[in-house]
Amino acid sequence: MAGRIPQSFINDMLARVDIVDVIQSRMTLKKAGKNYSGLCPFHDEKTPSFSVSPDKQFFHCFGCQESGTALTFIMNFDRLEFVEAVESLAQQLGLEVQREAGRGPPRPQVDPDLYAVLEKAEQFYRYSLRKQPVAVDYLKSRGLTGVVARDFGIGYAPPGWQNLQEYLKTPKGSPQLLDAGLTIESDSGRAYDRFRDRIMFPIRDTRGRVIGFGGRTLGAEEGPKYLNSPETPVFHKGSELYGLYEARRALRRIDRLIVVEGYMDVVALAQHGVANSVATLGTASGEAHFQKLYRYADEVVCCFDGDQAGRAAAWKALENALPTLNEHRLIKVVFLPDGEDPDSLIRSQGKAGFLRFIDNAMPGLEFLFQRLSQGLDLSSVDGRARLAGLVAPYLNKVPEGYLRTLLEQKLRELTGLDARASSARRMPTDVRSTLNNRTQKVSDRLLTLLLKQPEIWLKVDAADRSRLFLHRGDLGLLGELASYIDTHPEADIEEILVHWSDEPSYEELLQRAQTVLEIESGVILGEFKEGVVRLTEILEQQARRRALTALKENPDVEGLRQFMALRKP
Ligand SMILES: [Zn+2]
Repeated sequence: MAGRIPQSFINDMLARVDIVDVIQSRMTLKKAGKNYSGLCPFHDEKTPSFSVSPDKQFFHCFGCQESGTALTFIMNFDRLEFVEAVESLAQQLGLEVQREAGRGPPRPQVDPDLYAVLEKAEQFYRYSLRKQPVAVDYLKSRGLTGVVARDFGIGYAPPGWQNLQEYLKTPKGSPQLLDAGLTIESDSGRAYDRFRDRIMFPIRDTRGRVIGFGGRTLGAEEGPKYLNSPETPVFHKGSELYGLYEARRALRRIDRLIVVEGYMDVVALAQHGVANSVATLGTASGEAHFQKLYRYADEVVCCFDGDQAGRAAAWKALENALPTLNEHRLIKVVFLPDGEDPDSLIRSQGKAGFLRFIDNAMPGLEFLFQRLSQGLDLSSVDGRARLAGLVAPYLNKVPEGYLRTLLEQKLRELTGLDARASSARRMPTDVRSTLNNRTQKVSDRLLTLLLKQPEIWLKVDAADRSRLFLHRGDLGLLGELASYIDTHPEADIEEILVHWSDEPSYEELLQRAQTVLEIESGVILGEFKEGVVRLTEILEQQARRRALTALKENPDVEGLRQFMALRKP
């Protein structure tokens, strides 16, 4: 009989899982404020009374009073016994179920012989390494000690075509060796070893079982430098990460995972005391990789070559990471100096130097904005509109939530710089951004109100209108629209949209015109008049600070005169 599953294991497992993911993979949920809601799967209903709280990691149905954790949900939904539900969830997370008595191994899901044959192959490769001084010398020349080689189970596949089959004493053309990707069938139907004369890196799943191998040539032999197992029933390159099992075994707690390109990098970093690195297996970092990475760490730093190909790879990785991000999950990218890889870098810089390099990684979202705004003139309306258009599809990949809101805000800030940017350049950054945020907020609101009832502009006191128009250059789209209404007093929203239809700002106008106002049409004029005065005051304050800064930088009579002229009456 299997031993009891300790409560600590269950708690640990529940801490790693997101109840929203678990439920969403089985039914449709809609975001409703902080929580998610959907049609209750446990009773018949037409309107959703089933609610999931990500904060509490708890679900509750207001209709049938069913409630519980991710585990309770799986038991009820998948109709599993408690232990089965634990095993199912653990498997989904790549965890091995702990038992108090240590007995009762978890039930394997695929042909157990496949794991067995891979494990035997690993033993054979390790055994062969000990008998092959050239291979041992090669590892030593790369600075690896026996301890690290053992921790990672590094081995060697000797030259020759039938070694593995002879060692394992399997019948010729054993289907398991073929299925495990260890042998290849020739055209004549004869099976031969896939890996020959290569350093062998066993690839493990998160439960520690060997699921495939990576093989590296010792030198300049013919054939590819790196060779991986093909896709098999147990090995899926798209979601596996080399070194993850070893990192989890070495570290009690992982705050950050570093993604590098090759197994040699992972092993070399571990050799120098950086145990938290993993490598994808000859594929780009995909969404499934990130899902897995974020199960174990909140911060993922992806390391790339500094060349064109490396930058392209970084971009691809970032794109794939976006759907897995939230405000707790951080992605960063870092580019290696020319001609370096993590292995060479840590050998020359040491652990501290390498970690400094990683600490300087660029936040992925900064990389996103930076790359998309390349070549755009953000001081022009056109440039900002183009940036907004370019960023939108990427932004939409980020799941709804706080992070997405933040990004949208950042985009607004970037694209809302408008004409002020040039004149505000000399101001201290903090003052500038506070003022810009306030100006932007008020002028955005005025623009929206004006699009609802264009005629209100003409109802504002003429003195207030001209006082605002002293800051024409700072008004952007609002100023353009107000001028248009000045010259076209009968203009309605259709006419305005037609007039702007070829302009880059058309989208923004349309969007604002469609905004549903939460106030009655009768109070629009009042709010608008007040807003005009408020905006004017902010702009005057801004102009004063600007003049003061200029005066401090370059004290002359003309500057002083300008400043005095701006002083509040
Ligand atoms: Zn219910």
